[in-house]
Amino acid sequence: MLRDLRISVTDRCNFRCVYCMPKELFGRDYRFLERDELLSFPEIVRLATVSVGIGVRKLRITGGEPLLRRGLEELIAELASLRAPSGEPIDLALTTNGAALPVKAEALRAAGLQRVTVSLDSLDDERFQAINDVRFPVSRVLDGIAAAEEAGLAPVKINAVLKRGVNDDEILALAEHFRGTGHVLRFIEYMDVGTSNGWVLDDVVPSAEVVRRIDAVHPLEPLGPSAPGETARRWRYRDGAGEIGVISSVTEAFCGSCTRARVSAEGRLFTCLFASDGLDLRALLRDGADDAALAAALTGTWRDRDDRYSEQRSELTPSAGRRIEMSYIGG
Ligand code: SAM
Ligand code: SF4
Repeated sequence: MLRDLRISVTDRCNFRCVYCMPKELFGRDYRFLERDELLSFPEIVRLATVSVGIGVRKLRITGGEPLLRRGLEELIAELASLRAPSGEPIDLALTTNGAALPVKAEALRAAGLQRVTVSLDSLDDERFQAINDVRFPVSRVLDGIAAAEEAGLAPVKINAVLKRGVNDDEILALAEHFRGTGHVLRFIEYMDVGTSNGWVLDDVVPSAEVVRRIDAVHPLEPLGPSAPGETARRWRYRDGAGEIGVISSVTEAFCGSCTRARVSAEGRLFTCLFASDGLDLRALLRDGADDAALAAALTGTWRDRDDRYSEQRSELTPSAGRRIEMSYIGG
């Protein structure tokens, strides 16, 4: 069942993370979407409302960098007021690089946002600046996490993508930095999304290794999933200092239990992060489709999907199909 919808609100970003939007490809000449090509806020709200009507209970706002979208608080306020038919609130969160949180956290909370996920791959300033490739200091992302906490957007989830030879030596340092803070650090296996990041399997640091390395110093025990279809496996420190998560999209693909779809900034619906083609919801919206037609398009596309890319990864050749980029589809 489709329970979780990730909505990208922009394809632009103020970072150029080397594995996501490498400068060579996302340079001056890159054609980002024009304003009228993006879904408007009323279009996003309509889609979200129809999705909730067919069972979606989690909405995630992403990008590109979502905090670059002007007036995002207005969209958040509308989405935060959505309710399931039973009256239960919808779980609404936002994934950000954290750069703008010091200025935006309060307004986002006031608009009704409940939680944020901040991406942070390294605590070492030089390394962090090399990853974001725009010389953005790590201290300002840490300030962003603190601002989110102060604004009440807690616990903050921190997502760290691990790449062998780049930041796998920081597994313990990252764990120790967030141990005991109430925030939840999650380690994500580096994925072969898009075609621009030159992914090879050797780059992946298996989650089992992450857990083993932390457990050797700070003993861990498994926790059950907090929600059906949850992609992170949760582990708790035995000494009560909180929990971590690992997302094993490569070594333990979870296609079979996937409950998630994504809407790109221009309104294409993708039923898999590794899809190459998406249903043009913007055309439906702008051609005057009514709610029933939209709901039928969403449920039909979800029902007919046959994506299980991650489970098939090993059978596929590297050139199998053109895949879309993470910055376009939203992480
Ligand atoms: N700009 C926001 C951010 O960085 O959180 C939201 C969009 S970003 C595309 C969402 C997430 O995707 C980030 O946590 C990022 O680290 C992750 N990501 C990007 N490329 C990835 C890859 N190849 N494998 C795994 N995660 C990736
Ligand atoms: Fe931007 Fe997020 Fe991609 Fe980094 S991971 S380039 S912050 S969209």
